[in-house]
Amino acid sequence: MEQKTTARILDGTALARRLREEARAQAADLPGPPPGLRVILVTGDPASEAYVSSKTKATREAGLRAETIRLPSDAAPQALLDEIDRANQSAEIDGILVQLPLPPGLDPRRIFDALDPSKDVDGLHPENVGLLHQGRPRFVPCTPAGIVALLEANEIPIAGKRAVILGRSEIVGKPLAALLTARDATVTLCHSKTRDLPTLCRQAEILVAAIGRPGFVTEDFVAEGATVIDVGINRIASLEEAPAHLRNSEAVRRSIEEKGKALVGDVDFARVSQVAGALTPVPGGIGPLTVAMLLRNTVIAARLGRGLPARD
Ligand code: NAP
Repeated sequence: MEQKTTARILDGTALARRLREEARAQAADLPGPPPGLRVILVTGDPASEAYVSSKTKATREAGLRAETIRLPSDAAPQALLDEIDRANQSAEIDGILVQLPLPPGLDPRRIFDALDPSKDVDGLHPENVGLLHQGRPRFVPCTPAGIVALLEANEIPIAGKRAVILGRSEIVGKPLAALLTARDATVTLCHSKTRDLPTLCRQAEILVAAIGRPGFVTEDFVAEGATVIDVGINRIASLEEAPAHLRNSEAVRRSIEEKGKALVGDVDFARVSQVAGALTPVPGGIGPLTVAMLLRNTVIAARLGRGLPARD
């Protein structure tokens, strides 16, 4: 039987719905055709296929245009660079998103460099990274933007708090560190070489897990009452694949039986919910907010393309 939940559950789905409505209204107010998003997907990863389809669906539902260009998994770097160049040059395209991760052999940094920074809705071009780190963001990467929006919507204070982030990716950990620092948190950014993670994490008032390790964060990592944000999305196709501590989870077992897979976060939800003050679920936490923020960024790109300031 699942344990009783005590932490407040931070609902990303409801907030994402509101943010998508906001983006729809902002897009409708813009002059010219609806903002257009082009997603470039190097195929081969089923999870990426699913993310791209939910991103383009949500974009269209908000009245924006969305299209996906698919390249084979063995595409040469030049083929991807040519696609980016076409999207950079096209007056029809406001925002460009290259779905990550890229297969080995495609150097992500070369790809980020090639994007037109005024269309870079994932905020990965060095110019956008620099602006973010200087505290004057143009495009804030979608997942960290969603995390901050969720904290703020739930009135969880950031200023003066100790925040620990697990994972230093370009798309989550590093930009989130910049955003929380800009909001006056004291941030520790951890990675695979960090020593004694549980002790460090127990000092956090806000703990964010973005490492891609199912159920890695247990109650030993969490201070009583801390806010825990679970960014990880890990697909488990059988109970044997699940880490030992998740094999008894009724929710994981049921999902595998019914859907052939379970999505689990980096946090052991059942155990951490006994200790944390607030906690995001997987699914239904940060994932939907990432999609909502992509719409927001596409509207910003469209504003820039129409000679308007990024924000009102
Ligand atoms: P990533 O590029 O996969 O990198 C993982 C990071 O975690 C690296 O910095 C790595 O350290 C660190 N790490 C790995 N194992 C660790 C360990 N045992 N202890 C401490 N640190 C460890 O990261 P990502 O792209 O940000 O993805 C992370 C997770 O978030 C994945 O599950 C992904 O699916 C999910 N995600 C979810 C969303 C969403 O919308 N909810 C969006 C993006 C990503 P090193 O740097 O030392 O290698």
